[in-house]
Amino acid sequence: SEPLNFKQELTCVFGQPIAENPSQCMMEAAYKDCGLEWRYQTIEVAPENLEQAIGGLRAMGFRGANLTIPHKVAVIQYLDGVSDAAAMMGAVNCIVRKDDQLIGENTDGKGFVQSLKELTDPQGKKILMFGAGGAARAIGVETALSGAAEITIVNRSTQRGEELAELLKEKTGIPVTFVPWEGNYSVPEDVDVVINATSIGLFPDVDAVFPIDYSSLKPNMIVSDVIPNPPQTHLLREAAKAGCPTLDGLGMLVNQGVIGFKLWTGVDPDPRVMRAALEEVFGV
Ligand code: NDP
Repeated sequence: SEPLNFKQELTCVFGQPIAENPSQCMMEAAYKDCGLEWRYQTIEVAPENLEQAIGGLRAMGFRGANLTIPHKVAVIQYLDGVSDAAAMMGAVNCIVRKDDQLIGENTDGKGFVQSLKELTDPQGKKILMFGAGGAARAIGVETALSGAAEITIVNRSTQRGEELAELLKEKTGIPVTFVPWEGNYSVPEDVDVVINATSIGLFPDVDAVFPIDYSSLKPNMIVSDVIPNPPQTHLLREAAKAGCPTLDGLGMLVNQGVIGFKLWTGVDPDPRVMRAALEEVFGV
């Protein structure tokens, strides 16, 4: 008979704050569904302890990890290498152990694109994206690499918006325009996909009004939001009223998780099991 084995394979997420991060329930539901004896721990790590925490991952043979606020940029200096996309973004949200090496990946933008493809192929599309932070950077790079025709970035801070527009132009070669966000932004008629990549609407600001001119939304525009909690934001509710197909932030969260899961385990998880686990915790 098989020898007894009480040792599980370990994965985790590091962040601060971290208590409200729902990744564990989604990943452990998928491990269970795939019959894998793996665990996913939710671990609070302060910025000054990140180097030691990464050393801990190495010492304890973790198979993989996710990084969230505020570690996505700082972690790079402690890794053995990064993927091309992560290098382009200057941010890592997923560590994969390959033999003795810890390699940084960025699955946020790929997760978004995967989710978008449920409704449309980004190839040849005109993209309007609100935000210029970490999520916007990842989404901008991956939608451009997926063949988007052009991207307009609308952001409150001019400096961050211009920096991201320059980065995308330089690294991907597609036309990118920056527009400062003043008042209620009116969406141009020829836009195909509208993306909220800001944190407007994130818990606890669940009723935050998203400042756009809602009469400018047309039913041919796909409207998507990165906010995972709550999944139904003010923007998505208003977009649905305007007749637009919508995509919520759970789609991006699930799909970045699917990509990380495959990189760590070599197994394809069932996205429906992962989404159902999240819907249960968010009471959808
Ligand atoms: P950052 O702090 O890096 O960026 C925040 C962005 O939101 C900036 O562009 C900021 O503009 C903008 N913003 C915030 N508040 C306002 C406001 N009141 N008015 C206008 N603009 C505002 O955050 P991240 O990019 O890391 O994360 C953004 C969101 O994406 C979070 O809510 C996070 O939960 C979500 N996310 C979801 C994922 C998923 O899988 N679904 C994955 C990763 C992130 P400014 O530059 O002017 O400050």
